Amino acid sequence: MKNRGADMTIRDIIIKYSEDLTQMSDTPRLDVELLLQKSLGDVDRIYIHMNLNKELTKEQEEIFLKLINDRLNGRPVAYIVENREFMGLDFYVKEGVLIPRPDTEPLVEELIELCKDKNNINILDIGTGSGAITISLAKYLENASLTSFDISDIPLEVGKKNAISNNVEHKINFVKSDLFSAIEDEDVEFDVIVSNPPYIRREDMKTLHTQVKDYEPYNALEGGVDGLDFYRDITKGSHEFLKQNGILAYEVGHDQAEDVCEIMKNNGYTKIYTKKDIQGIDRVVIGFKL
Ligand code: GLN
Repeated sequence: MKNRGADMTIRDIIIKYSEDLTQMSDTPRLDVELLLQKSLGDVDRIYIHMNLNKELTKEQEEIFLKLINDRLNGRPVAYIVENREFMGLDFYVKEGVLIPRPDTEPLVEELIELCKDKNNINILDIGTGSGAITISLAKYLENASLTSFDISDIPLEVGKKNAISNNVEHKINFVKSDLFSAIEDEDVEFDVIVSNPPYIRREDMKTLHTQVKDYEPYNALEGGVDGLDFYRDITKGSHEFLKQNGILAYEVGHDQAEDVCEIMKNNGYTKIYTKKDIQGIDRVVIGFKL
């Protein structure tokens, strides 16, 4: 019998380690493939599929074992490979920014639908993180200019880097701001204010999966005792900085849509509606300033 050593093939690795990762990951096979791509020198995904019988060199296997160990200990694969795809675009990510999630794509899709035929749209994104929302809007809305606020330094640095790699840096202004605090010109008005704020209830933070709780930024996740603090604060503040008929658009937690609709209604928003994510959960809330 062969030793488990330098003669493992790509196929052997996928089979063995997908199995080992089933407890830790919802996407074990994808994770192994992403780690393999990195271990083999950032090869394309297709290379993996075309070379299933290829043996790893000793060196490649050592790199892979280091990466898979990190993953088995709970570190999210996106932080290990420093990349996550969102809206068909590549985003650099590292600890300190929330990893972009497919749950957020319906928010971006809805805004693209609402804004695609308008000219010179001015958008403010509050809590930009990796820049996933801002950068996809900049990419897919030709006539938009964006302002992206974040309270922390790492997101602003990562956001700028992603804006450059996606060739939209000329359309985005990244600014350090605690909600609206950086706005100096009181007359400034946006067509759209969008946010995926922290929305997890304080009590629920303890029950999150290790890979979220121990690795992703706490201040991008926790939204106060009932999880709604940021919806209250942003909705209240947004009114002053939106044009008439301007759009306020949120991602919300799986059971928060009704509460957020109510908050909007109580703060002078109209034509409020929700949109579902791919799992059928009300994930997006949109309202228009009266
Ligand atoms: N959707 C994220 C999660 O459940 C939370 C993101 C947020 O708080 N905005 O991990």
